[in-house]
Amino acid sequence: MEPRDLSSHSPYVPGRGVEEVARDLGIDPGNLIKLSSNENPHGASPDAIEAIRAHAEGIHVYPKAAHTDLIARLAEKWDVSTAQVWVSPGADGSIDYLSRAMLDPGDRILVSDPGFAYYAMSARYHHGEVNTYPLTRADGFAQTADGVLESYDGERMIYVTSPHNPSGSVMSLAEVRALTEAVDPETLVVVDEAYGEFADGESAVSLLAERDNVAVLRTFSKAYGLAGLRIGYAVVPEAWGDAYARVNTPFAASELACRAALAALDDTEHVERSVETARWARGYITAELDAPTFESAGNFVLARVGDATAVTEAAQPEGVIIRDCTSFGLPGCVRISTGTRDETRQAVETLNEVFADLKLGAHA
Ligand SMILES: *Cc1c(COP(=O)(O)O)cnc(C)c1O
Repeated sequence: MEPRDLSSHSPYVPGRGVEEVARDLGIDPGNLIKLSSNENPHGASPDAIEAIRAHAEGIHVYPKAAHTDLIARLAEKWDVSTAQVWVSPGADGSIDYLSRAMLDPGDRILVSDPGFAYYAMSARYHHGEVNTYPLTRADGFAQTADGVLESYDGERMIYVTSPHNPSGSVMSLAEVRALTEAVDPETLVVVDEAYGEFADGESAVSLLAERDNVAVLRTFSKAYGLAGLRIGYAVVPEAWGDAYARVNTPFAASELACRAALAALDDTEHVERSVETARWARGYITAELDAPTFESAGNFVLARVGDATAVTEAAQPEGVIIRDCTSFGLPGCVRISTGTRDETRQAVETLNEVFADLKLGAHA
């Protein structure tokens, strides 16, 4: 037998892992600086790790209290009701829950090109179709309501990524509001704030008080350093928050993930330090890298390097793993996650040497 026709589905291409690269190149994983997946270079909050140890004894029981507690804590943080918080395995899980809640077969979504691959993947799993709106290098990937509306044709959902992955650009709250007002009332604008902690502007959660066609995605994978646990959430309008009970996968957010997230939320020192490091590092990369960069509000910087695949490959044996953005639809660009101060300085030095070597090679 065969699965259904999956030819329109493309596999997700993750950033390369340390063990994988080390094994390929026969080098010690301890000597590699991994700046390819926008992870937290400070690791997880020590309090989150402690919470995992403390709750390890309870993992034979389905997560109930922990899930309820996390939802209550997030509702308090955002000043919304508990029905408006949809906890999920990563923000990716929330993307699936929104697809399940919104899409009938054949419904279309609108996503940015270049952009984050999972929106389209999730829509296709749910028998939806995908249209795109362009973001362009020429204007630094500027994000405006009008820019999206030029491509808008009544799609059921529009994804706005702010800060945008991989470019780092943002859509201001005023522009997001304008977009929610301009579209059909049955079009949901989803604002993906996976990198929201690193940006200056106000969260689009504030729009939920006025509008019922906007939802916001947040995650513990980036600023909170819990990528390996898989925990995130959506904040949705009161009007249809109760759909969660009908679409969520039972117990998909695990006991340990919920407990760690609760502890991480209370460790403000760790998040603040993580954000401060990312801000310093994106400034450092912008100033010191011998390649043009785009202004970023995230924990990464997009740089224009010419042959991105050659640069990414040449950097690995030198100990630096970055992300070739060809799979994002941006050949010629690499995305460099912000590391600790030491890692960032080392990576920039190495990359500058790689650029110089490749240039010499090209002229030889
Ligand atoms: C990392 C990321 C996410 C969510 O990742 P999870 O680990 O599933 O929480 C969502 N959107 C964008 C744009 C991302 O870069």
